Amino acid sequence: MLPVIALVGRPNVGKSTLFNRLTRSRDAIVADYEGLTRDRKYGEGRQGDSAYIVIDTGGISGDEEGIDAKMASQSLAAIDEADAVFFIVDARAGLTSADEMIADHLRRQGKAAWLVMNKVDTVDPDSAASEFYSLGLGDPHPIAAAHGRGVRALIEEALHEF
Ligand code: GDP
Ligand code: MG
Repeated sequence: MLPVIALVGRPNVGKSTLFNRLTRSRDAIVADYEGLTRDRKYGEGRQGDSAYIVIDTGGISGDEEGIDAKMASQSLAAIDEADAVFFIVDARAGLTSADEMIADHLRRQGKAAWLVMNKVDTVDPDSAASEFYSLGLGDPHPIAAAHGRGVRALIEEALHEF
C-alpha cells in the first residue's frame, strides 16, 4: 500500500489546484487500492522513486449544513484513512476560525499534519506566516500551488517521513 496524503482545509484555499499538481493532472483512478472509499477523489503521484496517493476533499468551512455537512464529513473520513495530512491555509485570506477548528481536530487525532500555506505568490510569505503559528502545527510550508512554487520541497519532505 502506498502512503496516503489527504488534502484538507477550507473551501477555496487551493486543495484541488494542489491535487492536480501533485498528481500531474493525471486524475488516476485508484480502484485497485482496497480499503479506500470511492466517494472522495483519489489520485496517484510520484516523486523520484516514491509513489503516493493523494485524496482531494470538498473542504471544511466550520458552519456546515446540507451538502456542506456531507463534504465536511468526507474530509473527516479522508483524514481518518490518510497516513498524513496536508492542512492547507490561504496566505492571502489569513487565519480564520474554520482554520482553528480544523487544526484542533488534527491535533486531537494525532495525525501527522503539515501546515501548508498556499497562494504565497500574492503576499509576502514571511509576514503572512506569522499569524499561522498560533495553530500549533509548527512552521507553515509556503507554496503557490497554481504555479508549483514550493510543492516539490513539500512532497519530498513529507515522503521522507514514510
Ligand atoms: P479548493 O476549493 O480548496 O479546492 O480550491 P481550488 O483549488 O479550487 O482553488 C480556489 C481558487 O484559488 C481558484 O481560483 C484557484 O485558481 C486559486 N488558487 C489556487 N492556488 C493558488 C495559488 O497558488 N495562487 C493564487 N494566487 N491562487 C490560487
Ligand atoms: Mg476543490
